[in-house]
Amino acid sequence: MADSTESESRKLLGRLREAMAGDDAGQTRLDKITHLIADSMRTEVCSVYLFRDDETLELCATEGLNLESVHKTRMRLGEGLVGRVAKYGKVVNTPDAPNAKGFRYMAETGEERFSSFLGIPVQRLGEKLGVLVVQSLDAREFSADEVYALEVVAMVIAEMTELGAFVGEGAALSPLHQQPVLLRGTSAQEGAAEGHVWLHEPRVVITNPIADDPHRERERLHEAVDELRVGVDKMLEMSLDGDKEQVQVLEAYRMFANSKGWMRRMEEDIALGLSAEAAVEKEQSQARARMSQVQDAYLRERLSDLDDLSNRLLRILTGQGATSSADLPADPILIARNIGPGDLLEYGRSLRGLVLEEGSVGSHAAIVARALAIPLVVNAKRITTEALNGDHIMVDGDQGLVHLRPEDTVSSAFRDKIAMQADAQERYGSVRDLPAVTADGKRVDLLMNAGLMADLPSLESSGAEGVGLFRTELQFLVRNKMPKRSELVVLYKRVLDAGHGKRVVFRTLDIGSDKVLPYMKPTDEPNPALGWRAIRVGLDKPGIMRMQLQALIRAADGRPLTIMFPFVAQFEEYRAARAEVEKTLELERKLGHPLPEVLDVGAMLETPSLAFAPQKFFEEVGFLSIGGNDLKQFFFAADRENERVRKRYDTLNVSFLSLIERIVERCSSTDTPLSFCGEDAGRPIEAVCLAAIGIRTLSMRPASIGPVKSLLLRVDLGALRKIIADARHRGDQSVRPAVMDYLRDL
Ligand code: PEP
Ligand code: MG
Repeated sequence: MADSTESESRKLLGRLREAMAGDDAGQTRLDKITHLIADSMRTEVCSVYLFRDDETLELCATEGLNLESVHKTRMRLGEGLVGRVAKYGKVVNTPDAPNAKGFRYMAETGEERFSSFLGIPVQRLGEKLGVLVVQSLDAREFSADEVYALEVVAMVIAEMTELGAFVGEGAALSPLHQQPVLLRGTSAQEGAAEGHVWLHEPRVVITNPIADDPHRERERLHEAVDELRVGVDKMLEMSLDGDKEQVQVLEAYRMFANSKGWMRRMEEDIALGLSAEAAVEKEQSQARARMSQVQDAYLRERLSDLDDLSNRLLRILTGQGATSSADLPADPILIARNIGPGDLLEYGRSLRGLVLEEGSVGSHAAIVARALAIPLVVNAKRITTEALNGDHIMVDGDQGLVHLRPEDTVSSAFRDKIAMQADAQERYGSVRDLPAVTADGKRVDLLMNAGLMADLPSLESSGAEGVGLFRTELQFLVRNKMPKRSELVVLYKRVLDAGHGKRVVFRTLDIGSDKVLPYMKPTDEPNPALGWRAIRVGLDKPGIMRMQLQALIRAADGRPLTIMFPFVAQFEEYRAARAEVEKTLELERKLGHPLPEVLDVGAMLETPSLAFAPQKFFEEVGFLSIGGNDLKQFFFAADRENERVRKRYDTLNVSFLSLIERIVERCSSTDTPLSFCGEDAGRPIEAVCLAAIGIRTLSMRPASIGPVKSLLLRVDLGALRKIIADARHRGDQSVRPAVMDYLRDL
């Protein structure tokens, strides 16, 4: 970059800082800076457009356009050149604006006289704040140096906006992070919660984006990067013999920390007048903007590594460390971009709710949030940039809505909802100890799904008759090392003890697909859901399976034991797994460990193929449990984690119910006990339909037992069965509408 550009830029930033130093009103400051920029860039026009709402930009200050149009000229996101800059977060640089694609004529501004146009997005860490524009009469394209210099100015304006420097009258100048915001995400765990924001990773605030002494700033940057490198190397040394994935992440960190390109760009930003921390953040903002456009998962992950690294660097430079959990509000609602299951468990039951900017319904964090029974909304775009620690927040896990800094009317309606839910819970409490017997006298056993120690208290409080599915992999997922057999014995013992003799169905390790153990070598499979997972891994790696079986037998210590194998797709797999159990029993007997008084071994039916297994399979298997989450995904060929297709197929689709009916018939012809343990078991309408077609054991999240039982007590399964048969006869796609009519009449 030319030295003259650097000194010009530093001079301009210096003047900007002076302009900001006084206690002028926001509008005056904006007017001053547009004047300064136009003067320094030798352009006739400089304008600042800021958002007045999510969709609308407003001209807030200008040098060179008609002053009457200030606060009057508005455009929608994507409209005109300015709208395009904002929408795509990309620079528009054209010598002939009136003939450029997307140009829109705004008569009131008088801008048609100006030929060249340079628009720069004003954004901070992925948050769109506005657009900075310079225009000139002569038809020239701005040079790369000029664009770069204006990007640096836009960065400073973004920081100033964040700090509240331009607060004034009107919506476009209203202070940031103080307005009520409604964010729509995806529901990942139902429930409503009110509380105060706690940011998992507190945001670093930069109070000094402009610096006078580039040498000093470069030194500061180098010192901080050195400290960062030493830290990363230390972490690498510590984790070399463990967690492979962590090592990979750290190696990527090291690569970035040593990246010449990254350093060079930050040094250039500093040469133009930014402070070291502002330079780091400018690069981080640009990486985030790229991240939002990259489709490739690998590249996205690398950009996200760079983002984490930038955060670390910012903390070193500003000394703003992670806040201590001692400051946690009394009613914390945790906000994070993403969070691992281990970190989430550390917060544990102190949390009222959880909102993730990314995440997915099937993620491990979601599984843990369900176990902790806290409302969870995922995919809540902008939440980490909008929310500030301590903000009042309401999370509607049923609808996937987040009300940040809600208005009073919203708060009071929301509180009514919470009160109604509390009432309903109380009502469910009154049926807790009743058996679930339907109006026509059919009994349905309601069990709970579990997987963490945090689930165990629910065995008592929910009125569950036992644990129908204990997902043993969760204990493996929340660690960063393979647990030892002795540790597993202790865990499984605690589970059985908490059951006080109630049946607990331990499902052996169900890993693979989305459940990747952090310490296992990742397998690069084109289609992991159809890949090497669950029992397939167990049979190919019998060492791990045997270790787990031994732990279960030892934990039972002579008590009855129930074991279930996941994802069995054909009879042979069950036979082979069963043979492993026999071998392990023999081994344990020889080692002198007491064997279970009763041993029940069953399988999950999660692939359509097993519904068509030979009769002999149904005779031999101890019991079957339908894993509806996977079964439905394979029946409809619709990824359970893909929001776009997941909801397209109704569980109450006649064809799917026919498959389940067939399984019921096959099991009843061989007297094979059958249950259903997918998420649908916990949805009251789905649950009563499953009961109507003959499923008499349902295993679900503890919180669902009350609502499911309440509805079961009121329905007539015979009547429902007829409604389902009629719907099928009519050729309905789903029985839901007919069933809803019946339920409404109840
Ligand atoms: C299922 O597939 O329905 C099931 C219960 O197993 P998971 O959700 O753990 O895959
Ligand atoms: Mg499954």
